[in-house]
Amino acid sequence: MQTPIKTLCRLLVASSLPALMGAVHAADAPRTNPLLVESTLPLHFPRFDQIRDEDFAPALEQGIAEHRKEIEAIATNPDKPTFDNTILAMERSGRLLERAQTIFSNLASANTDPKLQDLERAMAPRFAAHDDEVQLDPRLFARIDALYAQRDSLGLDAESARLLWRYHQDFVRAGAQLPEASKARLRTLNAEIATLQTTFDQNTLMERGASAVTFDTRAELAGLSDAEIRNAADAAAKAGKPGKFVIELVNTTGQPVLTDLASHASRMKVMAASLARGSRGGQFDNRTVVAALARKRAERANLLGYPTHAAFQLAEQTVGSVDVMNKMLAELAAPAVINAHKEAAQLQAVIDAEHGNFRLDAADWAHYSEKVRKAQYAFDESQLKPYYELDHVLFDGVFYAASKLYGISFKERHDLPLYQGDVRVFDVFDKDGTQLAIFIGDYYARSNKNGGAWMNDYVPQNGLTGDKPVIANHLNIPKPPAGEPTLLTQDEVTTAFHEFGHALHGMFSHVKYPRFAGTSVPRDFVEYPSQFNEMWATYPDVLKHYAKHWKTGETIPQALLDKVQAAARFDQGFETTEYLAATLLDQAWHQLKPEQVPQAADVTTFEAAALHRAGLDFPPVPPRYRSTYFSHAFSGDYSAGYYSYVWSEVLAADSTDWVLAHGGLTRQNGDHIRDTMLSRGGSAEALTLFRDLTGSGPDIGPLLKKRGLDGQH
Ligand SMILES: [Zn+2]
Repeated sequence: MQTPIKTLCRLLVASSLPALMGAVHAADAPRTNPLLVESTLPLHFPRFDQIRDEDFAPALEQGIAEHRKEIEAIATNPDKPTFDNTILAMERSGRLLERAQTIFSNLASANTDPKLQDLERAMAPRFAAHDDEVQLDPRLFARIDALYAQRDSLGLDAESARLLWRYHQDFVRAGAQLPEASKARLRTLNAEIATLQTTFDQNTLMERGASAVTFDTRAELAGLSDAEIRNAADAAAKAGKPGKFVIELVNTTGQPVLTDLASHASRMKVMAASLARGSRGGQFDNRTVVAALARKRAERANLLGYPTHAAFQLAEQTVGSVDVMNKMLAELAAPAVINAHKEAAQLQAVIDAEHGNFRLDAADWAHYSEKVRKAQYAFDESQLKPYYELDHVLFDGVFYAASKLYGISFKERHDLPLYQGDVRVFDVFDKDGTQLAIFIGDYYARSNKNGGAWMNDYVPQNGLTGDKPVIANHLNIPKPPAGEPTLLTQDEVTTAFHEFGHALHGMFSHVKYPRFAGTSVPRDFVEYPSQFNEMWATYPDVLKHYAKHWKTGETIPQALLDKVQAAARFDQGFETTEYLAATLLDQAWHQLKPEQVPQAADVTTFEAAALHRAGLDFPPVPPRYRSTYFSHAFSGDYSAGYYSYVWSEVLAADSTDWVLAHGGLTRQNGDHIRDTMLSRGGSAEALTLFRDLTGSGPDIGPLLKKRGLDGQH
């Protein structure tokens, strides 16, 4: 935290402000930037009513300046380093910056506008440079390193010892231990990698546009709806091709139009364009970028003492090592591919029955699997939706399950300021009736809100200051016309439970140090509590409680539910295989030593060989992303981390089995989950928390069963 006197000053200014405002003419009243002071609302709930866009830049700049001053004071402290004057002091520092940054980045996602977007772009390099400045400060590292050397004689409790280790580790991984010459090389590599990543991202985006597929006749688009065909005609007109039809592509290999396009030739044309992205030559070819990134990341890993980039990345993760990673991939790949072959045979049978006279291609998969799905599981979303009304799902489903499990309760309140009229706020009370947290539910889609769903905290739990969490969930449910009910799809129901799993992780956080609060856990662990919480969406006692027809109150019929559950396992051979193939590519590139990285011209050959070696080269199921348009792997933080989704799912499926074997929805289980995992954040090793919960190491079996890949279905 900043020097106490300064904080006190600002708080005094804030609390005397209302009196001042009353005393002077409103037009003359000086306005205090609300971000510079801690909110006096319950649990420091943000002053959404007072914050303006133009408040962010000065608050962020002042936050950086204050943090820099605090860090300088720690680095130049004449006293010998102690845990308190170094580690604890750092942990307390940067409070203004964190507050401003948290509110800024949350609003830039949930309620953005061009001003916030511009500021986001402008601030990204500022934040990065500030982090580098702290983590490559040799004076600071000398203090941390000295403490770390005496760690066994400092008499630290377990969480404090872990905090010391964490800081040391953060600095070492950022290169603090390197000699000056290597540090200089590291800075150069970091900058080059950042630039290459941006280039990859921009190429991918432009290539997607440039790969849009043009059709000359409407007949070639048979199967698409009139609206889709109109869109294609509009897109063609915009592209200067009036009278023709242009199909634009999405990021993944699979394309939405492939489901409905009736012509095999048209489908083949779309799929060929999709697969060729980034490797067909021309301006946006990404092969050079892929090879350069793989080489530079490997070199950086070497510099930091790791054989490969994957080894560097995985050392920090629950999975722990490249060997464990490869073992998991191999164990999943074989059953997934076997099932994909079985599914392919089913699809080929339909093609043959229709006298299609061609062999199933990747281009045909979605089209024929949809036919099989309709034939085998005759139901559609519109039959389900009347049973999934938002308030029922939320109060009688999501909150109900949490109450039954954890003994917590919820009370909606309407007195706190919000950035949007339809966002909802709840006090959350613990089992003993004391306040646990505030929960913000922002469920509706808006044009100024990021897509998808996510959780964030506005105030993280902090054992040093006593701060209790303010946590938000964001979904993108289309808002119905006034007077009509909000009816959710099956996916949206699952997502509501999923995001609330993250929220519980944040709200139950009970750690001393904010560095470990809530979801501050390894990337391959963070989706575990949320996927775990999804189990309650289909748990019979919970489901019967919330899935009631919005008009008649009738509980969802069992026969319909059975169909939904059977359909959940459909096509899992395909989905698992395409996901694993992409995961394999991400690993294959990042498990190379610098000198093993192929030349740009050999990128696609390398890719094919890697898939073949892993047994994942089944042409009807290409990777979900090929290397040259695989943004997770090449444009950002998910490099060597695409596996995280399935790893978290392994942990979640295993824990779900444990709960079911121990009585299901009981308070006893809730307390156990909370004590062993949800309250612990990152304060202990993630895998230890998992073992404490289930009593053993992760087992892949439950996931195979859940996805119907265990040979039993
Ligand atoms: Zn999630």
